[in-house]
Amino acid sequence: MKQGVLISTVEHLLSSLYIFGIDNAVVELDNLEVPILDGSALEFVSEIQRVGLKQQAASRTYLVIRKELHLAERGKTISIYPAESFQICYSIDFDHPMIGKQTFEFDASPENFAREIAPARTFGFLHEVEELRKNGLVRGGSMDNAIVLTKTGILNDILRFKDEFVRHKILDNIGDLSLIGCPFIGRIVASKAGHALHTLLVSRILGDPANFELMPEWKAAEVAAG
Ligand SMILES: [Zn+2]
Repeated sequence: MKQGVLISTVEHLLSSLYIFGIDNAVVELDNLEVPILDGSALEFVSEIQRVGLKQQAASRTYLVIRKELHLAERGKTISIYPAESFQICYSIDFDHPMIGKQTFEFDASPENFAREIAPARTFGFLHEVEELRKNGLVRGGSMDNAIVLTKTGILNDILRFKDEFVRHKILDNIGDLSLIGCPFIGRIVASKAGHALHTLLVSRILGDPANFELMPEWKAAEVAAG
């Protein structure tokens, strides 16, 4: 299946849970897909904030990066570096008048995520949407749940940020990183990467124990309440 275009996926939900430090939650679905909602993580975040978090008396383990790692594939790159906290510097370069070169530096915290990343919507090209619709892969796909790009502009009225596109890439990147399975301490630098490179990075990190150290933190973990 073609990836990343108007198809509802799990990464926006995982991304929100991960950044809020929720490592104990039950997710119930009544269909094959997580609802795409408006194409962003805004609603997941506002519901998490509304319901609140509950601390549990369990220790949490952090994965702390100890070694640099660089992956490259046809002009796309992703690297990790040891750092004091979880950071992502992401760049994209799309040959499109509404996008072009965009770089965003994200310093991970629930507050920064809610303000800078969660509202950024997924995006896709109109011709791809039409193709997907023809093949029955998109049912509800419309401007209500994505930024729809034409050859020269966008069909939606306004962008939420001038660099909404690169911010959304960070949202997806965090969702893929959540597959690590515990909080991550390190710096990611990515350029024109995507789902495939994100998940490859995760398996490379976990593939060699010399890349990281698991640090138990004897502090109560947080879970979603209610
Ligand atoms: Zn996405």
